[in-house]
Amino acid sequence: MADAILVLNAGSSSLKFSVFLDRRGEEPQLALRGQIEGILGTAMFSARDANGAVLAEHALGAAAPRGHGGAASFLLDWLEQRPEGLQLAAAGHRVVHGGREFSAPVRVSASVMAALEQLVPLAPLHQPHNLAAIRAVAARAPGLAQVACFDTAFHAAQPPLAQAFALPRRLTDAGLRRYGFHGLSYEFIEHLLPSVDARASAGRTVVAHLGNGASMCALAGGRSVASTMGFTALDGLPMGTRCGAIEPGVLLYLMDQEGMDARGLEQLLYHESGLLGVSGISSDMRALLASDDAHAAEAVDLFVYRIVRELGSLAAALGGLDALVFTAGIGENAPPVRARVCRAASWLGVELDEAANVRGGPRISREGSRASAWVLATNEELMIALHTRAVLSAPAAE
Ligand code: AMP
Repeated sequence: MADAILVLNAGSSSLKFSVFLDRRGEEPQLALRGQIEGILGTAMFSARDANGAVLAEHALGAAAPRGHGGAASFLLDWLEQRPEGLQLAAAGHRVVHGGREFSAPVRVSASVMAALEQLVPLAPLHQPHNLAAIRAVAARAPGLAQVACFDTAFHAAQPPLAQAFALPRRLTDAGLRRYGFHGLSYEFIEHLLPSVDARASAGRTVVAHLGNGASMCALAGGRSVASTMGFTALDGLPMGTRCGAIEPGVLLYLMDQEGMDARGLEQLLYHESGLLGVSGISSDMRALLASDDAHAAEAVDLFVYRIVRELGSLAAALGGLDALVFTAGIGENAPPVRARVCRAASWLGVELDEAANVRGGPRISREGSRASAWVLATNEELMIALHTRAVLSAPAAE
């Protein structure tokens, strides 16, 4: 059996995985995917093949070790026993923050891990879990090559102005700047664009990654030049439970008048705001679109309004718009949201093809539309597999 690449995306309580077969000369092919959820308690394991057929679905025994260590051990044992005879060549990890140091995927070493640990304060809710998964794989399979792929890296070459806060220089020098996230998703779209629309690939394109986490990115000739997420994954659009852009004065007010501290604000801004906070019903766009509650409608209205405002801002950064791309859970599956954004973007030259939008695209703008509009499925896991293969085949740097 061909070499296989294990792709891991570790969260606070879950470990998502995909396995790609790496046949030389071809794009890596998905063999199976799944997740271990609830890794701090009674963990549930599920796996499906590339066609979605269930391969496994069961709880891990109460005696199974907990945490990322237990999950990684279980997964590697399970993969070893697969009838396909998978030979793992490497594990590629989604790592949220590469800071200023890592502007490309990197093979993990002791010194890389030490540098990534230093970045934990920049992404305290995500980075520790990403690193825990790398350590867990290293403990169970010490000889397996591991590659860290960063959500920030694709944005690293943005112009300095796009990265700057208007703060005293000593704070900018200390790393307080806009990094941008969802980079693996944007990079995958950039990887697809030449085969979809040469003009979008070479020109001025805004990609809207609208999922539970949501952001937008301006691409000029395939390179990220501006994005709505900044120092953290809080900025920009309202999200499932995150507030998106908020005036800093609001935070000062909450601290002064409501006695909120950093942890209280973190809970409010990351977990109780966004679609959930405004609707009071759900963070799930499906539930909001299906609801006739006025607050659900208001949450969707605000989501669309903020996308439209950010689109104008990103188009300004690009000096115009050649293409608009929708991706991720809402972007790929919610025609009403796309329709409303596209109609509001008519001043930028987007002419919506209503029927194509309802069908799901991929092209959802009319023939002759000055700016084209697209629905493209993102695939961050495949992007990680591609990076992992490239890092493995590159000459060793150390
Ligand atoms: P993601 O984080 O990319 O998995 O996206 C999750 C978001 O996509 C959630 O808000 C879901 O409600 C939304 N979503 C998934 N399918 C649909 C759909 N058919 N219609 C509207 N929203 C959807």
